[in-house]
Amino acid sequence: MTVIEMRTMETVCSNLPRISSMLGRIANEMKRIADELETKTCCICGKSFKGHGHNPHPVEIEGVCCDECNAKVVVKRIKQLESEVE
Ligand SMILES: [Zn+2]
Repeated sequence: MTVIEMRTMETVCSNLPRISSMLGRIANEMKRIADELETKTCCICGKSFKGHGHNPHPVEIEGVCCDECNAKVVVKRIKQLESEVE
């Protein structure tokens, strides 16, 4: 091993905690991206879509819905609120 290689090893070893925390952050970020790219099925229209999806309440109780259906959900939610006010 040359002196330069020794120095490199020392640098790497002394930075190990930092490197491992950096790798942890990268792993978390990759998980988040994978989650975003994951295809989900809309619980209202049954179409598959990418992304986090929306809360389908009050149209459906469980699952997630697509952007298109979210528009309908929001309308229904507003109507429900209006009927509660009356
Ligand atoms: Zn949908």
